[in-house]
Amino acid sequence: MKLKVCGMTSGENIQAIASLKPDFLGFIFYEKSARFITSDIPELPKSIKKVGVFVNASESEIIDTVSKYDFQVVQLHGDESPEFCSSLQSKQSNLEIIKVFSIKDHFNFKVLKSYESVCDYFLFDTKGKLPGGNGYSFNWNILEAYPSTKPYFLSGGIGLDDVKNIHQFLKSSASKYCYALDVNSKFETAPGLKDFNLVQQFKTQILSNTSTMNYNINEHGYYGEFGGAYIPEMLYPNVEELRQNYLKIMAEPDFKAEFNQLLKDYVGRPSPLYFAKRLSERYNTKIYLKREDLNHTGAHKINNTIGQILMAKRLGKKRIIAETGAGQHGVATATVCALMGIECVVYMGEIDIARQAPNVARMKMLGATVVPALSGSRTLKDATNEAIRDWINNPVDTHYIIGSVVGPHPYPNMVARFQAVVSEEIEWQLQDKEGRTKPDHVIACVGGGSNAAGAFYQFLNDTDVNLIAVEAAGLGVHSGESAATSALGKEGIIHGSKTLLMQTDDGQITEPYSISAGLDYPGVGPMHANLFRTSRAEFISITDDEAMQAGLELCKLEGIIPAIESSHALAVFKQRQFKPDDVVVLSLSGRGDKDLNTYINYFDL
Ligand SMILES: *Cc1c(COP(=O)(O)O)cnc(C)c1O
Repeated sequence: MKLKVCGMTSGENIQAIASLKPDFLGFIFYEKSARFITSDIPELPKSIKKVGVFVNASESEIIDTVSKYDFQVVQLHGDESPEFCSSLQSKQSNLEIIKVFSIKDHFNFKVLKSYESVCDYFLFDTKGKLPGGNGYSFNWNILEAYPSTKPYFLSGGIGLDDVKNIHQFLKSSASKYCYALDVNSKFETAPGLKDFNLVQQFKTQILSNTSTMNYNINEHGYYGEFGGAYIPEMLYPNVEELRQNYLKIMAEPDFKAEFNQLLKDYVGRPSPLYFAKRLSERYNTKIYLKREDLNHTGAHKINNTIGQILMAKRLGKKRIIAETGAGQHGVATATVCALMGIECVVYMGEIDIARQAPNVARMKMLGATVVPALSGSRTLKDATNEAIRDWINNPVDTHYIIGSVVGPHPYPNMVARFQAVVSEEIEWQLQDKEGRTKPDHVIACVGGGSNAAGAFYQFLNDTDVNLIAVEAAGLGVHSGESAATSALGKEGIIHGSKTLLMQTDDGQITEPYSISAGLDYPGVGPMHANLFRTSRAEFISITDDEAMQAGLELCKLEGIIPAIESSHALAVFKQRQFKPDDVVVLSLSGRGDKDLNTYINYFDL
C-alpha cells in the first residue's frame, strides 16, 4: 500500500515529512485552501513522487507550475472534463494524472467511464464545502461497486484512529484496486503543518498491518529470532546511548541534508544503474548493474562510514575506532575521519597487517593509527576483541564504527538504513528506464551482508521481488575451506548478536575461507539469517573458481573489472536461469583494483 501525504506549506516541515519516505507528497495550488503553498519546495529524495494539486486551474497555469516545480504527477480536484485531461495528457506525456471524485453517501460510478483513458489514477475524497481537507470520511463500502480496474487513492479524513478500519477494508474486495492512502488534515498541528510523529506512526502501523511478514527489524532489535544485543555489561551504556538516539538523529532534517550532500558531492552518488547489454545478451535476460564500484574509495562501504561519522559527531564523540580484516572497512573509516578531522584508530590482526600492506599504507596516509592485534589467530576476530576492549575503556568520547550489518542492535539496523540509499536509487532509476520501480530479482554477495542489505532494503516486504544472496563457497561448500554461512552455519552468538555462524559441535567458531577477503567471515548479519530461515531470500553459494571466471567474463563483455566479492554475485548467471523479460538488478559492490594481485596470480597474467 502506497502512502500520499498532502498539503504541507513550510519548507522545513516538508523536509521532515519527506524523511519518512512517503511514496507521494502533494502540494496544493488553490488560493482558497488553508493549505495553499506559497513557500519554495526543497529538494526531495527521488523515490518520492511530487504531486501538484489543482482546482479548476487553466491548462497553462498547470503546465507552468509543473515545469517550475518539476512535478511528476498532477491531481485535478475540480470539475475538469475528460477533454481537459486528454489535452493535458497529450501535451505532457510523462505527467501522471490523478482525477478526483468526491463521494458523500452515494456515488454514480458511471461518471468514471469517460475518464478511464485520460488519467492514470482515480482518487476518492469526501464531499465537503471546500475541496479537500474536510477531516471526515465517506463510507468506504460504497467501493464494493467500483466497476473499474484503474488503481485508486483512498482519501477523505483518514487519521491514525482509522488504522483498524483500514486493515478491515484492505481485506475486503472493495479494496482490490486501492493503490494508495491519501492523508492530510488529521495529521496536522495547524493547517498545512504535519505532525512528524503521527505520520511516522501511521506509516509503520499501516505497513506492519498490510504485510503478512515483516522482514525489517522489530522494536526489540530482532529480525525474527535473530539479532538482539548480547554484550558485556561494561558495554551497555555505549550501545544504549546509540540505540536511544540513532533513529531520532537520522530523522533530523539537518542530518539528512548533510548525509545526502556528502553522498552526492564526496562519494559521487547517485551511482549509475547501468544496463549491461552484452552481459544481458549472453544470459538472455535484462541485467542492470548497480555501480557501487564507482563510489569514492571503490565500494559501497563508504555509504555507511559517512553515515556513522555524522552520527558520531551528533553524539558529541571526538574519537573513532574500527576493526578491519582485509583493510577495506579500515580505509573507508580512515577516509571519513580525515574528512571530518577526527582521530581514528583501526585495529587489525598482525597477520592481516602483513597480508594487506597496501591498505595499511592507505590508512596511514589518511592519518589513522593502525594497531596490531597480537592475540589468538591474529586476524579479524582478534581485532574485533581489541576494538571492543578500547570502547569499554573510552565510553564517553569514542564511537565504534562497525563495517557491516553485524554487531549488537542497533548496528545492523543502522548500517542497513545508511546502505538503503542503494535500493532507494534503484527504485527511481528503474522507473526512468523500465517504467516501474520494482525489479524481478535483486542479486548481491554477502559477507556480513551490508551491500545486500542496501540493495534489498526497499524490497524486503515486497515478496514479488525475488532476493538472491550469494555466499562464498571457497574451495567447495563441504571442502572445509568455505565461508558459506547459511549452508553450514548454526545458531550462535558472534559480535553481540544472535545469528547463523560456522562453528564446531562444541561451539568453537570455524575459520572461514574465501579467495575474496570481503566474504571471508564466519557469520552473517541477523537480517540475512532471518531471510534465510524464512526463505524470503534465495541463498546460492559460489566457489572461488566460479567467481574468478565470472569476474573475468565481466571484464571482457563490459569493460568493468569487478571486486572479487562482486564476482561471486556475477557467477549466479551460470547457475540460475532467468526469463528473457525479467529485470535483474545486480549489486556491483566494488571495483577490482584492490584484487589485481589475486587476479594476476590466479590467471597467471
Ligand atoms: C566488504 C565488501 C563486501 C562484503 O561486505 P558486505 O557487508 O557483505 O557487503 C562485498 N563487496 C565489497 C567490494 C567489499 O569491499
